[in-house]
Amino acid sequence: MDFKLKCMACGAEYSPQEIRYTCDCGGLLDVEHDLDSLRGQVSRELFDSRLGDLALPYASGVWRYRELILPLDEGAIVSRPEGNTNLYRSPRLSDWLGVDDLHLKHEGENPTGSFKDRGMTVGVTQARFLGCQAVACASTGNTSASLAAYAALAGLAAIVFVPQGQIAFGKLAQALAYGAKTLQVRGDFDAAMKLVRQACDELGIYLLNSLNPFRLEGQKSIIFEALQQLSWEVPDWIVLPAGNLGNTSAFGKALYELKELGLISRMPRLAAVQAQGANPFYRSFLGGFQQRERVEAHTVATAIRIGAPVSYARAVRSLRWTGGLVAEVSDQQIMDAKARVDAAGIGCEPASAAAVAGAKKLVEAGIIGRKEKVLVILTGHLLKDPQATVDYHLGKLAGLTPSHANRPVTIEPTLEAVQEALEGSL
Ligand SMILES: *Cc1c(COP(=O)(O)O)cnc(C)c1O
Ligand SMILES: [Zn+2]
Repeated sequence: MDFKLKCMACGAEYSPQEIRYTCDCGGLLDVEHDLDSLRGQVSRELFDSRLGDLALPYASGVWRYRELILPLDEGAIVSRPEGNTNLYRSPRLSDWLGVDDLHLKHEGENPTGSFKDRGMTVGVTQARFLGCQAVACASTGNTSASLAAYAALAGLAAIVFVPQGQIAFGKLAQALAYGAKTLQVRGDFDAAMKLVRQACDELGIYLLNSLNPFRLEGQKSIIFEALQQLSWEVPDWIVLPAGNLGNTSAFGKALYELKELGLISRMPRLAAVQAQGANPFYRSFLGGFQQRERVEAHTVATAIRIGAPVSYARAVRSLRWTGGLVAEVSDQQIMDAKARVDAAGIGCEPASAAAVAGAKKLVEAGIIGRKEKVLVILTGHLLKDPQATVDYHLGKLAGLTPSHANRPVTIEPTLEAVQEALEGSL
């Protein structure tokens, strides 16, 4: 195997056949590929030639790039398949944001409705390769939905730790339905995260949080696929929501590797967007990353309700590599942006809309230029959090004004009532 695990803090190296998530020094691990030997092996043409392949592994939008992800035998791969998500243009959203060259990549179109599937296919493949029988994660919802599905597919036991009462209904439904043992922790996500790490260490369960470097390798494929869809034309900006900072980390690594391999000639800038009530990374950014911050997190966007992001150091590195920045948006801005994305016929969950709201804010501040090419990542499906959507339109979200509310109308079963209700709509 021509890859290894390498500590990003002290440089220590470990075999990928060893079960470990962090370095002995406590540093985060990277899967390090041998870029020198890959330089002659991978090319835009190679990846383009695999498009349209109907069979696994290349039918997967993750494993199409397997040399840069995890070069295991095809037979080892556990895949739905995932990826192959659409890239949308929307004149309405372009107008609203004030950017013509706007592209939205919808990661909610993955098998379980979020980008987490791209990491999970690799994480569960690695778990099986290591001979593990059980896998676990702590989750704000989407990771547990994904883990439950992929573990079921691979025949592994799945245990998910979720903060009680703090995950969206669609996600809880998925974890239960796919058969994961679901532990509702009395505490927040950060408490659940701490607990799952202890449990995995003590009970011999394989940990599949984004602390796990193999998951991040899969998430890099969001960038590979988006660039391929853009005919390898690098955007000026890539805007994404940021919670535990797994994607921010993965995107930077993907771009760094593509640049090193000569598949792209310049770096786009990453803009990581946090919710104001869950903004530890934004606070660190304001302080020039001198200090790692933590907060008690509160936001309507439950997928990014995280106060102590695990992949902090990797994400800081991503921003340094790409000349990136961090922005924050309010819950009001998130839900209004969501209403716009939804009404454009595209739809997404609240956390995804944070990226759209952030892009708008950066355009208004003159940081993103109106003529620049902007790629926004929509991370999760509209149906993940029906409660937040319905409550918004009914004006029931505490403290928020439903500026774009579309209220349902209850009528008597008569034509007159229909006519009255449609007054002004036709
Ligand atoms: C997990 C998740 C995020 C946050 O991504 P991180 O990699 O943890 O920063 C954002 N949106 C959705 C829908 C998610 O499921
Ligand atoms: Zn180390």
